Amino acid sequence: MDWRRGSDKERLSVKRDGPASGSDGPKPVTLRKCQECHRAGVARSHTVGICEECDVAIAEEVHERVETIKEALRKLRAEARVGAKFELWDLILAQTEALLTYEEREILTTCPPPSALLQDFRALRDAVLGPE
Ligand SMILES: [Zn+2]
Repeated sequence: MDWRRGSDKERLSVKRDGPASGSDGPKPVTLRKCQECHRAGVARSHTVGICEECDVAIAEEVHERVETIKEALRKLRAEARVGAKFELWDLILAQTEALLTYEEREILTTCPPPSALLQDFRALRDAVLGPE
């Protein structure tokens, strides 16, 4: 049976001689896919599973939302009209809920995390305005 094995080897080696040697074909590399933009093989960032580009965009968005929340909380202290208070709380809760979508994807945003903030904000709003 030695002669048969020999000939099989020969045939295989002839096939492999074709495109593989010397050509720069695509290599089978497993690339990380960004869970935000779903592109594969993008530069890695410090946030797990998120590419650098999306990481910067998320950081900016989070910053804006946090600033909006802070501003609304400031206004709330000075605001006397109940209608305006409701509007501010709606804004605060909507922004915090938007941050929560990141927490659900295990992306760090605020400390304490949005879920804790949301609980606090809801309790605060209910204490001031009563449940909806
Ligand atoms: Zn991305």
